Amino acid sequence: MNRIFSINPEDAWPDFPLRSYARLDHHEPDDLTTAQEAVFSFDAVDAGWFGFPLNERMDLGKPVDTRDEMRDFWSQLFKGYLGPPKDPFDEMPIYNIEVTSKKGDRYWDVLIAFGEEDWLDIELGDTGRFPVDVYGSLLAAPVIAYLLSLLQVTGDTAAALSNAFDVDAWPDAADGDVDAILSGVGTIDMLAMYDIGQGSAIGLLDSSETARLYFDLGAGAYGNRQTRPRPLRFCWRGSPSIVLSHWDTDHWAGENSDHGARARKWLAPRQYNLGPRHHAFAHRILKNGGTLHIWSGAPGKVRSISNGPGQTLSIKRCSGTSRNGSGIACYLDDDNCQASWLLTGDAGYGEIGAGPAYTLTALTVPHHGADMSHKGAPPAAMALHARLFYSFGPDNKHGKTSISHPTAVAVTAHDGAGWRHGAWSLTTPAQVVAGGDVLATASHSNGANLAVHLESAVAGWTAAPAVPLSTVPCVSACGTKHGCTSNVIQA
Ligand SMILES: [Zn+2]
Ligand SMILES: [Zn+2]
Repeated sequence: MNRIFSINPEDAWPDFPLRSYARLDHHEPDDLTTAQEAVFSFDAVDAGWFGFPLNERMDLGKPVDTRDEMRDFWSQLFKGYLGPPKDPFDEMPIYNIEVTSKKGDRYWDVLIAFGEEDWLDIELGDTGRFPVDVYGSLLAAPVIAYLLSLLQVTGDTAAALSNAFDVDAWPDAADGDVDAILSGVGTIDMLAMYDIGQGSAIGLLDSSETARLYFDLGAGAYGNRQTRPRPLRFCWRGSPSIVLSHWDTDHWAGENSDHGARARKWLAPRQYNLGPRHHAFAHRILKNGGTLHIWSGAPGKVRSISNGPGQTLSIKRCSGTSRNGSGIACYLDDDNCQASWLLTGDAGYGEIGAGPAYTLTALTVPHHGADMSHKGAPPAAMALHARLFYSFGPDNKHGKTSISHPTAVAVTAHDGAGWRHGAWSLTTPAQVVAGGDVLATASHSNGANLAVHLESAVAGWTAAPAVPLSTVPCVSACGTKHGCTSNVIQA
């Protein structure tokens, strides 16, 4: 196992890499054109580790050899051979480097110029003038280091790095494999948004409250690790598969604390420019005996499956260019109730486009309530009864910026589209339980109250289901020895 996934903070990769090769993983806010500050998260590997004797598959002086080695490696893993020789992923020192920058400081112009496809050479030191946070695992506290230089890698080294982490070494899922994951889900009665901290994990539940499919299996990680409930385990008694909306860590990190999540079927979009941590996660799924099905549907492509009488489950490839905007959205149409649910992941509404057949009675707000106003406007609330879900961690933060989800911009936009936000202030949202149409996973601190988890929440097709659904989370019947931990108490 790669230490980046370790549960115990003391098992994390130690200290920080003096020199690393990295890809820009994400930045917050999404729109940098109007931003005054932002956090840039880098997916980094210690530069000294590449090449013989530490790593025989990835020789940065030999781009073609590296490509051939990695294609051979992944082809063996995807065929189900769990022990390909010279496995680079367990010993790869992966770090998350978070750089918070303000417009006008010495790195801002450099940082906003990098694209997801670029490789960077990052030098860090013990002393300096520009502190950054370095994480050696999903759940470890950051080590403070100082940014000494940030350069773009070019030439053979850049080509070799792109070949070392190349999703084209992963095979396309056949349409039949995609359909097999979506079918057999049966009739869905409830949508559950799990309180997993900062991130997203949604379950589609049948009439016995059994999860039949997960859309994302996220959890708080890195700077938001403290928002993750401990322990965190999901319900596996129905042997559900997982559809990943996109490859961002906060949408899959719930896997690392839940043995039940191993050996499952995962369906994920083919997204380019994935860095070391995502390749290590794909490796982890396959090494644990799970299967990974990479859907290469073109932007706008839909696959729909009829499940049960009058229900259609669809996935749609979003049309954006960023990782958030180019993933999978999911919707469910119920002919009997003339109602639809839309699960957005982190894609903006304009990047999802049309899809659901009926009036929305459940909607998940994109990207945890981040400011996505540049990516389209929310759909109008039309149903007599509907639920608007916000998934975020209590007092979540993004580097050292002042940004926290949900944002006033997103809440105001949804309120303006007719979604009733109850007791929430539109300018300082999420400091109390909302009521109205809103179900949220947390409340933030303010002068009077501490930040709290609000636990998991469910919606039905045309009315709120009864809660508590399970006064105690299921134990023995959960499909794993320990049982699940999610307490569904909101509807
Ligand atoms: Zn994302
Ligand atoms: Zn996210």
